Amino acid sequence: MAPNLVLPGSKGSTVDVSILHGGRTTVPTAYVFQGHISGHDLLDIPCYSFLVENKKQGKKIIFDLGLMKAWKEKQPPSILGQIEFAKAVIDIERDVAEQLKAANVPLESINAIIWSHHHIDHTGDPSLFPASTALIVGPGFKSNKTTFPGYPENADAVVVNDAFVGRELIELDFSSDLKVGGFPAIDYFGDGSFYLLQAQGHTHDHIAALARTSDDKFIFFGGDVAHHPGEYRPTVQLPLPETIQPSPFTGYASASSCPGALFADIHPAKESGKDYRTTPFYALNPAMNVSLQDAIESVNKMTFFDSSPDVFVVIAHDTSLLDVLPFFPKTLTNWDSANYKSVGTWRFLKDFREAVNSQETSGS
Ligand SMILES: [Zn+2]
Ligand SMILES: [Zn+2]
Repeated sequence: MAPNLVLPGSKGSTVDVSILHGGRTTVPTAYVFQGHISGHDLLDIPCYSFLVENKKQGKKIIFDLGLMKAWKEKQPPSILGQIEFAKAVIDIERDVAEQLKAANVPLESINAIIWSHHHIDHTGDPSLFPASTALIVGPGFKSNKTTFPGYPENADAVVVNDAFVGRELIELDFSSDLKVGGFPAIDYFGDGSFYLLQAQGHTHDHIAALARTSDDKFIFFGGDVAHHPGEYRPTVQLPLPETIQPSPFTGYASASSCPGALFADIHPAKESGKDYRTTPFYALNPAMNVSLQDAIESVNKMTFFDSSPDVFVVIAHDTSLLDVLPFFPKTLTNWDSANYKSVGTWRFLKDFREAVNSQETSGS
């Protein structure tokens, strides 16, 4: 494990960041991670998308697009079959492209769409963007038959072909020596304001990103490195506090608190004798990752960003931040002075309310 996180030095440029809600979906927790906490059986999750603007260069990119509205009409039968089999909810009212237009962000101003990976809850509908918007994908995308070419041209594909037909499709190359926090990295704008990070494991093409929101503050876009904060919190670097404030069981603006010890007996680590204060609640599930070992490595690296007060880690499906963050057209750029990280870090514990309650009533 990397001992100390060294964040890249500033070259004088930053980006503005907004978070968009790209629809919601559901997935059984048993499929996502190992370890079970009673009452936490289903992830009902938002699909986040991020608008990143480098004002100095006059450039905008969008990282992930959430779901697409036309999924029933356009997705390949294999995907539709999976959705039906899992009885998954797919709930998307407005495509990200539509939300941008409605807020007077011309789609022509978006230089590129960057996919964290090829899954339907991240790829959205790039065909709604003009041909001048490039599509950027992680290494391995073009050489894998499940991702390129797309469906229906390629019957085996789980990605829709009209996403990249007629536009520039760029596969990233992480072969330079640049590393950030242990991840192979690309300085996307060349001015230190936005880094793409190769973070494999979940899929063959998965990437994450690090956006510099001020000289020394960053937002880490985790994509699907994890699906729930319980997979990377708490850790030795970021232990469960003795007192959690605000209490995850009340509104985030409240002055209430609750003892961290409340979670000692419901933590799956209890059985393995590990310390509940420094062990993540859940472990990754092999079924959710093409390479479990790579996925574990990516999560481990991410925990060092997560424990830094200078970095705000936001994974693509963090439900616990839904009521904490301001959504587009507002911005997240001032996340530090607005205390979103300090307020949001332990809010996911509200998902364990039922287990905590039943433990209290049983008096154990
Ligand atoms: Zn995924
Ligand atoms: Zn996802």
